[in-house]
Amino acid sequence: MATIQTRTVLEALARLQHATNLELHAALESQLPELSLTSLHRITARLLERGEIGAVPTDARQAVLDTRPETHDHFVCTHCGGIVDVTLPASALDAIQEQLGTHLAEDGLVIRGRCAQCRAKPEE
Ligand SMILES: [Zn+2]
Ligand SMILES: [Zn+2]
Repeated sequence: MATIQTRTVLEALARLQHATNLELHAALESQLPELSLTSLHRITARLLERGEIGAVPTDARQAVLDTRPETHDHFVCTHCGGIVDVTLPASALDAIQEQLGTHLAEDGLVIRGRCAQCRAKPEE
């Protein structure tokens, strides 16, 4: 039973790419109506621990789970919180590192901005 649930959770996250536990829970409602948010938290925590999924380093209060466990770069919309994967050249990190001196920059850069959908909408 737990394995079927886990597989369904992985599939849902693969569809969403990036999602909080709350978003994932809403997406699974029709497939796993008996799955509580607490159980989902437990499943995703285990998947994170095993390195089967990742987490996006955002400033958001809610952890954002990532279907890709390996370190990669992200664009985060500061307006709607939308997240997309981006691949920045290694030279971008090098340029940042040059500015940092002895402070150490890490892979998995997060670029903030306004996404296409939000740009298309009039300013609120
Ligand atoms: Zn947006
Ligand atoms: Zn990602």
